[in-house]
Amino acid sequence: ERETEARERFKPALSPDGARVEVVANISDVAEAEAAVAAGAEGVGLLRTEFLFVNREAPPSEDEQVEIYAAMIAALNGLPIIIRTLDVGGDKEIPYLRMPVEENPFLGLRGIRFCLAHEDLFRTQLRAIFRAAEKGPVRIMFPMIAMVSELEAALRIAEAVRAEIGAAPVEMGIMIEIPSAVMMAPELARQVDFFSIGTNDLTQYALAMDRMHPVLAKQADGLHPAVLRLIDQTVRAADAAGIWVGACGGIAGDPFGARILSGLGVKELSVSIPSVAGVKAVLRRVPMAENQALAARALVCADAATVRKLG
Ligand code: PEP
Ligand code: MG
Repeated sequence: ERETEARERFKPALSPDGARVEVVANISDVAEAEAAVAAGAEGVGLLRTEFLFVNREAPPSEDEQVEIYAAMIAALNGLPIIIRTLDVGGDKEIPYLRMPVEENPFLGLRGIRFCLAHEDLFRTQLRAIFRAAEKGPVRIMFPMIAMVSELEAALRIAEAVRAEIGAAPVEMGIMIEIPSAVMMAPELARQVDFFSIGTNDLTQYALAMDRMHPVLAKQADGLHPAVLRLIDQTVRAADAAGIWVGACGGIAGDPFGARILSGLGVKELSVSIPSVAGVKAVLRRVPMAENQALAARALVCADAATVRKLG
């Protein structure tokens, strides 16, 4: 089975009944961009740019960032990349940014909130991304959007930066990883080109279970029906607005999770590099009609354990 997977990893994830799901990779650096292509990924669905900012004394300059993004774009050789703007806070701390010590960092000044509060840092990164986007297919994604006003502020800044340097427009999207964003998905969808569901944080915030908690993390299962119903609601809102939905949290890379997500209507799965071949293989083997039936059954289960027993 593993050998077949390895041989077939470059074939698209086309189901026996003709449904196509894009399988892309989560990466953090240039070496991973190369590894993603070698693993059969059809692009990058999540570049975690935090990793450009860690293990150093000061933030990377605009030119340094352009160079790194451009190297990734070159490695992808025409395949698309979604660059997520800096998502610090929570578990991702960067000493020189002198982030405030908070009692509840996961509920604190993190993600887009931090960037909107540090507009210089945000503008520098956006300028670098727009410049790099001239070299290949780039999309921009904002993390941790909880409210329409945050998206509007982020879009306003991005558009101002783009106009200042005379760069071409790029597709803009957001992570859906906070329950309030699911509830506001119809309004959010009107202002972006795509959604990507961050199942790690969406699970944490829906179940009120710290994703790093030594005991609770195991129970914080992204296949909990509460989370699946949030995903279902997100896909319906996106469909109604005519935009596509991807997913980039951990369950997207689990073959059973990939079946359920695609059955719910998620069109792009962004997974860790070692998961690419296995996810493609399961999607090529199982008819989409079966995944849809599985997803429908999972939505009405009472808990995650019952969902897992459907597998
Ligand atoms: C997520 O929250 O599911 C996600 C993909 O982003 P991160 O793990 O970087 O928070
Ligand atoms: Mg997240």
